[in-house]
Amino acid sequence: MTELRLYDTMAREKRVFTPADPARVTMYVCGPTVYNRAHIGNARPAVVFDVLSRLLRHLYGEEHVVYARNVTDVDDKIIEAARAEGVDPAVITRRYEDFYLADMGALGVRPPDIAPHATQHVEAMVAMIARLIGTGNAYEADGHVLFHVPSDPDYGALGRRDREAMIAGARVEVASYKKDPADFVLWKPSEAGVIGWDSPWGRGRPGWHIECSAMILAHLGETIDIHGGGLDLIFPHHENEIAQSRCAHRGAPLARYWVHNGFLSMAGSEKMSKSLGNVVTVADLLERDPRGEIYRFALLSAHYRQPLEWSEALIAQSKATLDRLYRSAGDATGGAPDEGVLEALADDLNTPLALSRLSAIGDGATLRASAALMGLLEGGASAWFQGEGDSRIDGLVAARTEAKQKRDFAEADRIRDALAAEGILLEDSPVGTSWRRA
Ligand code: AMP
Ligand code: ZN
Repeated sequence: MTELRLYDTMAREKRVFTPADPARVTMYVCGPTVYNRAHIGNARPAVVFDVLSRLLRHLYGEEHVVYARNVTDVDDKIIEAARAEGVDPAVITRRYEDFYLADMGALGVRPPDIAPHATQHVEAMVAMIARLIGTGNAYEADGHVLFHVPSDPDYGALGRRDREAMIAGARVEVASYKKDPADFVLWKPSEAGVIGWDSPWGRGRPGWHIECSAMILAHLGETIDIHGGGLDLIFPHHENEIAQSRCAHRGAPLARYWVHNGFLSMAGSEKMSKSLGNVVTVADLLERDPRGEIYRFALLSAHYRQPLEWSEALIAQSKATLDRLYRSAGDATGGAPDEGVLEALADDLNTPLALSRLSAIGDGATLRASAALMGLLEGGASAWFQGEGDSRIDGLVAARTEAKQKRDFAEADRIRDALAAEGILLEDSPVGTSWRRA
């Protein structure tokens, strides 16, 4: 069997991957907080871990992999968004979870086997918090329950940050009731009118970190094979998950391999993020060309641990390569994956190498089976080229409408005539312009 090697953040090196039980390989990835539309940076972990889950299924068998990705559906940002719209938080979370699944689906991301929701696991979180109080790792103060960081001598092994950095990381939650400035919240009180649950410490809601620890235990067990997420989650989120779970489980480690993806940035700036205002949403991209495979290909063009610079050139290049690959693949089916592609992926998910090896495959059936490991070339070639035709024409029709709005009638006529020359007829109506082939 092909040997899979993964870079383990905890060990700080590539390690051969051996699951605890090859009949039940377990992977958990921290999922979205559902209160806004996903940008293409948010899609990177979804796509990267989708590829890893496909590879694990190829190696261990479809039935032998359990992949869980949670939905954070209780959070202060959700509460704020609900308040701003004057609706129940569930209205916000349902809407944005649906958008998230649709956007990721368009990028070829399969739904995980399990998608646990935080709001449905509050009882399990309360039980774990109670246990941590019992073991002396947590304490109640002022309606809150806090994890006491100095109670865990192994705290900080994942990120290996010094104490100053750990205090800075916990500073968002600075409060007089903390015994130590690095202590973090497991439970906090909810004021009247704010979403909350009854607990031994009064009506309140869970902190973010405890959610993942409790849901991992509920669905996958005390120790899982792979825990994944973005690089930004190493500290404090994953460090805190590790401490909670280990202390609640008599020292059993939370995960055997820790895998983290790097950040996506816009050309010339730092990471793509809402606060920097340099966000391109998946929806924006799909509006321009609905073939999400283009953006999936672009996300996989860099190694997952490296930074990835998002640009127009990257999109154009990805589309051109896919055009070429679809031409070679045709509508062939029934092949087996190429060994070189498989080996590249098994070497810590080396997708740039795997993609370049894909381009060298001559046989359509082998090409398709190899690309499928990365969730690429899953549709038919004719649908791909048809999709191009339609989105290009949609783009030209939109450009003509814009020209008309700017009263640039010469440009509008030029576009209409160019399309007519291709046999595409436009029909204007009060609600917009539609097109059909003559
Ligand atoms: P946020 O909504 O900014 O909290 O992001 C949710 C998750 O998406 C983060 O925890 C990251 O792991 C991931 N993420 C956010 N921005 C980026 C980015 N620019 N590149 C890669 N991953 C990102
Ligand atoms: Zn998590």
